Amino acid sequence: MQLGLAASTVRRDASLIDALRESTGLPRFAAEPAMREFLRAVTRARPAGAKFEGVVVYSPRQLVPSLLQYDAPPFGPSFMALRERCLFTLRVVTLMRGGSAWSVRRSSIKAVCDPIGRPIVMFHYDSKGAAANNMAHDSNYVEHLEEDTRRCDRSLCPAHLLLQLRDVVERLDREEHDRLFTSEIGAALSVNSVRTLMSKLLRRAQVAPVFTSHSLRMSSSVTLKLLGVADQDVCVRAGWHTGTASSTRSRHYLYGRGVRDNFARLLLLPGRDSS
Ligand SMILES: [Zn+2]
Repeated sequence: MQLGLAASTVRRDASLIDALRESTGLPRFAAEPAMREFLRAVTRARPAGAKFEGVVVYSPRQLVPSLLQYDAPPFGPSFMALRERCLFTLRVVTLMRGGSAWSVRRSSIKAVCDPIGRPIVMFHYDSKGAAANNMAHDSNYVEHLEEDTRRCDRSLCPAHLLLQLRDVVERLDREEHDRLFTSEIGAALSVNSVRTLMSKLLRRAQVAPVFTSHSLRMSSSVTLKLLGVADQDVCVRAGWHTGTASSTRSRHYLYGRGVRDNFARLLLLPGRDSS
């Protein structure tokens, strides 16, 4: 403690010592009551620094000019720009982790109508929740910016972009995988590359460096909350449990992730309501 070590460092050292003790046949000591009490005291005495102190969370809209920066008319955006737009709008409106977006199954993407008749694009992916609830996969959707889909701004509409990227990647004819996010020649990207795509966009948009690609979820949820969207709806869309969670509830209520508000309009278009 006199050395001024961070609590996480003390904990790491304790587990390193335990690993050594274990390898020489000695019992572990970090789990003993006195040691547990000591580690709790260290944590109280040395709280972790507030990572986001002094910075204001950015809104997804702030990134749109940088997102639309690379365009190649008259044939629409280049592959890279299309991929970036699709990933960004997908992650923003679904509040998905990078790893979940990476796992989107290309063959599962299809245009359908939701239970109240709104056009959406559904897809399957692997989520932490699906694994925890013993489900083969999770499903989610992206919405069109406009209910009359002919009026959508196709450079920014999450549903149009998802269908467009799927079609482009299908034409690359790589049947050995079912991924959506690929290189220009159709090779599946690694999960880290998918995350890096978003951190590059954040840096290009000059968002404070403390915000990594994971911050997209925070950016969306804070913005939606400030726009008056019910916490419960944000949680349903993001797959976060509210209150007492049960696997039955997650299956029947969170499955499908339908919410009333159009998150795409709220998060991507300036000064619009969601109706
Ligand atoms: Zn659309």
